[in-house]
Amino acid sequence: MKALIDQLETNRILTKEDLVQLIMQRNPELDQYLFDKAVAARRRIYGNDIYIRGLIEFTNYCKNDCFYCGIRKSNKNAARYRLTFEEVLGCCATGYDWGFRTFVLQGGEDRYYSDERLCDLINAIKNKYPDCALTLSIGEKSYASCQAYFNAGADRYLLRHETADERHYEKLHPASMVLSTRRQCLYDLKRIGFQVGCGFMVGSPYQTAEHLAADLLFIKEFAPEMVGIGPFIPHHDTPFAQEPAGKLEMTLFMLGLVRLMLPDVLLPSTTALGTIDPQGRELGILAGANVVMPNLSPLVVRNKYLLYDNKLCTGDEAAEGLENLKKSMEKIGCRIIVHRGDYKPKS
Ligand code: SAH
Repeated sequence: MKALIDQLETNRILTKEDLVQLIMQRNPELDQYLFDKAVAARRRIYGNDIYIRGLIEFTNYCKNDCFYCGIRKSNKNAARYRLTFEEVLGCCATGYDWGFRTFVLQGGEDRYYSDERLCDLINAIKNKYPDCALTLSIGEKSYASCQAYFNAGADRYLLRHETADERHYEKLHPASMVLSTRRQCLYDLKRIGFQVGCGFMVGSPYQTAEHLAADLLFIKEFAPEMVGIGPFIPHHDTPFAQEPAGKLEMTLFMLGLVRLMLPDVLLPSTTALGTIDPQGRELGILAGANVVMPNLSPLVVRNKYLLYDNKLCTGDEAAEGLENLKKSMEKIGCRIIVHRGDYKPKS
């Protein structure tokens, strides 16, 4: 199995069969072998630098009904909120003072936030903080909408593909949502000129090793600037309430594989990883991740953006805990950097 990891390190690609083998046969020894190589790859490109992004969860209204997600339309128990322009700008002001130079606007697909309103908001943020990057994570939009956001000044866009297998996609989403639309949106975003992120959940219901291998091959083919990977975690008010959560070890393994496949990719150690294990975020960095996204949302709404149960939003996960985060990164030989942290292909 180690030979396959060596092969991946050299060629940056493996066949689907080889990836399935690796995934099925991973064990602690192989994990460490992979992580050492993944961290070496990260260091060759990014040194000890860890980039931070301030996450602003600006609305939890959503017209979609993804079976895994706690803010799905059918969850009548979700306490809905949306931030005003002033509140979002307030988050940016606080974040800027703390050293954030990237803001991520994430939300449900909220009809109130029309293209016009979104563009006004993007404009306002970029005018006030021209030295900052703005990332959108607002779901599937048309080509024209994405172009409008880009013209308004948005720099990056996160849209996880969720799973690269159509049948599996159907098991995670209502019939109105299809993988081809999401894929098309990802290619549109790239063509428009965004730095784009795709990604998936590890351990989502019905997921097999073949699905994970297909996810990795899709990521390789799409060659995004960013990749978001975290464990699935059940939410009690969704159809998947009784499903088991994804595993820490498998999530870390995926992070390591992605680092070797796309050595210069921006790879966050996600909140979900920090939620399933108290050391999750650090372990993610030690498996090859190089980005963390602390929460900048106002404290009064933070516990309402519940994609899954027990979602972390305080402690190191919170932007106000940046000093602690700095310390925990220093303990593992890394340092947090105050700049936009753009994707820079160096390989
Ligand atoms: N509406 C936006 C943002 C979604 S939230 C969009 O569609 O892109 C961001 C990510 O959280 C999702 O892409 C999904 O991969 C993840 N997520 C949602 N529910 C989750 C759960 N129960 N466990 C783990 N991750 C989840």
